[in-house]
Amino acid sequence: MSRNALHVAGALGTTRVLRFVPHTIRQAPEGGITAQHFCVAYGCTATSGPLDDPGKAQDWALRHTGQTGHDLFRREFTDHARVTRDGDEPEAGNAP
Ligand SMILES: [Zn+2]
Repeated sequence: MSRNALHVAGALGTTRVLRFVPHTIRQAPEGGITAQHFCVAYGCTATSGPLDDPGKAQDWALRHTGQTGHDLFRREFTDHARVTRDGDEPEAGNAP
């Protein structure tokens, strides 16, 4: 048995052996970033909605403050991540 193996008890008494393979997770800029701003003024439920440009979400907040005087926002940002098996990722400067 490899030291990178895990025995998992399955249904009906079967056993599966899972090998652990090293992987790495990194931000994937090609997936972009989604930004959403939420006004947190008492009683206000306004939101920018999810936008693919953080600058547009910021502009929405500025406009909302100008229209309402509400000046506090909760901000959410999401990005994407890619998982690669170690040794499979392309190395910088090694392009054909
Ligand atoms: Zn508001």
